Amino acid sequence: MTNPAKRLENKVCVITGAANGIGFATAQKFSNEGALAIICDMNQEQVDAAVKKIVDAGGRAEGYVLNVTDRASIDLVVAALMARHGRIDVLINNAGITKDARLVNMTEQQFDAVVDVNLKGVFNCTQAVVPHMLKAGKGSIVSASSVVGLYGNFGQTNYAATKFGVIGMTMTWARELGPKGIRVNAVCPGFVETGILATIPEDVLKGMQERSWLRRLGQPEELANVYAFLASDESSYINGIALEASGGMSL
Ligand code: NAD
Repeated sequence: MTNPAKRLENKVCVITGAANGIGFATAQKFSNEGALAIICDMNQEQVDAAVKKIVDAGGRAEGYVLNVTDRASIDLVVAALMARHGRIDVLINNAGITKDARLVNMTEQQFDAVVDVNLKGVFNCTQAVVPHMLKAGKGSIVSASSVVGLYGNFGQTNYAATKFGVIGMTMTWARELGPKGIRVNAVCPGFVETGILATIPEDVLKGMQERSWLRRLGQPEELANVYAFLASDESSYINGIALEASGGMSL
């Protein structure tokens, strides 16, 4: 029996970078909302552990090893999902990395690596999934931008370029795909307590907390709620936005 209170009942939801951090919290939230969470990440053991946690808690999840920079690996996963489930309802482009340095010190390798994952990875996954959504005449795509994609950030030339780029692609795809029934949006988290902040010194972290008017870092579950809203029909008239969830950092 379907439970009408569940916002993603029986939806097939692909989440990249879902073994950790915001992606994993999103997979947990989606399974709590009735979805089949498709956990895609780079490491088999981490993928298996994430799936097990969700299944042990009574949810539905499947895991796939996928590198968003590798179009062949994406095509394989999409083909497997279509063969098994016949559709992909939601794509969450969450995988992302940082390789920070000031402009004067940033290497070409640092720049290219971040662009490959955070920007081209979003393009790769979206381009692989969209033909199937077009056939179905519906779908929701939500991609990870950042407050850094709205305001820039010291030491993050590469990351800022990708996160501004995600918003640009989101607005473009919202125009191209909206008329075909597919909504495309982005999320701009502030600073959220995950492994991605592991290399940031304590005093800088403190500064980040101060910049939010809630005077604290965000929690992955708080971002998962935003993804659930934008993925579900609750946001059915929202298309092409970059939703900031940062405790009011810009105020
Ligand atoms: P995280 O490091 O905890 O998790 C990122 C996940 O992405 C990891 O599981 C990692 O294995 C995976 N990943 C990395 N490269 C990949 C690739 N090539 N293919 C597939 N998977 C890959 O990070 P997080 O903090 O949860 O961040 C998730 C997203 O949110 C990222 O796009 C990040 O830029 C964005 N974001 C995070 C914050 C924050 O403060 N944590 C703020 C703004 C935006």
